[in-house]
Amino acid sequence: MKKSLAGSAILLSLVLAGGLAANAAQASTAGVQTAAATQTVTPEQTAALAAKLNSLRPTDGSTLAAQLNAQVAIDDDLSAAVVPTACNPSTPVRDWAAAQRADWTAADQQFADALNSFQPLLLDALLWPQDAGSTFGLTGEFTTDVTHTFRDLGRFWDIDATGIRLVPMKGTMLTDPARMYRLFHVAYGLPDAISTALATEVVTTVNQPKFDYGNHPFFSFNAFAYPGAVIPGFVIPKMIVMGDGVLEAFKAIGYSDVTAQAILAHEYGHQVQFADNLFTTALTGPEATRRTELMADSFAAYFLTHARGDALQYKRIQQFDQVFFQLGDCGFTNPGHHGTHTQRLRAVDWGYSIVRSAPDQGHILPSRTFAGLFETQLPIIVA
Ligand SMILES: [Zn+2]
Repeated sequence: MKKSLAGSAILLSLVLAGGLAANAAQASTAGVQTAAATQTVTPEQTAALAAKLNSLRPTDGSTLAAQLNAQVAIDDDLSAAVVPTACNPSTPVRDWAAAQRADWTAADQQFADALNSFQPLLLDALLWPQDAGSTFGLTGEFTTDVTHTFRDLGRFWDIDATGIRLVPMKGTMLTDPARMYRLFHVAYGLPDAISTALATEVVTTVNQPKFDYGNHPFFSFNAFAYPGAVIPGFVIPKMIVMGDGVLEAFKAIGYSDVTAQAILAHEYGHQVQFADNLFTTALTGPEATRRTELMADSFAAYFLTHARGDALQYKRIQQFDQVFFQLGDCGFTNPGHHGTHTQRLRAVDWGYSIVRSAPDQGHILPSRTFAGLFETQLPIIVA
């Protein structure tokens, strides 16, 4: 990450770059990363590694990685903020994400894209979830918000929450040779020697200041929910995974008071859907995904503003969602499309309206009742 940007970008990049607190109000970021192992990596070496990663990535769908990918409710819209596409209007988050890559060369971008296409953090979290003593955010600054909101969600919704694990997603995984090796070897079935060599090269390349030694938000700009599965060799629990990158991005643009709560409430909405079997619908393709995503948005708004949920001010949720939903306006034909900005805001408005109009503010609707009301409202939300 560039440290010599003019104006506000300096402040923002310092938040992530560690070592120097930009002002007294920001928590110390000391100890986030070390520069000890940095080696010189030339642009030619970086480009060659990008090409190698792309050529070695299996595409036949038979890998463990492909099987898992088909089951996960990834909130792809988040990564849409950092992956350059033809439809990328300027928004505070996209501008921030672009500023974090201001010192990347074309080869750096190729490498980061090639590495992300292996979904290393997502697959590592699914196959080898590490939630003991978890911290959230680069310096753990979101740990309290995330863990308390998760506990509150478990009490609020009427599903059995006991098996749901809350797992962080941290880019430092990319600088761990053993974890990179097992990703290539186990998740992608690449031969032993190739996996070892790739892991070594990736670790060396990521271990540079411009990639924040793995902590660059480009690698962990995501959050997702998983329903749990048993596959040969693995018993994968139900889980919600929260990436540091997305938390840092919204913190940098001024939303640290609601970011973790809002994203987690949406992901937990997917867990309610898994538990209640709410994925069944006559809709198909992008319309089916849009339905479950908008429903998760409504679940989130209901919890966030309910007196027995997070009891947050609706105005503040709206402000956050205005910015958050700007990430999802591209790719209408994408099977992962979450709904337009307007549709998502309508889904949130509707969730809040159920709170506001309830005769008994202390009553929490059963999740299936809430989902039934949503189903009736859906045509109006997407109209
Ligand atoms: Zn979602």
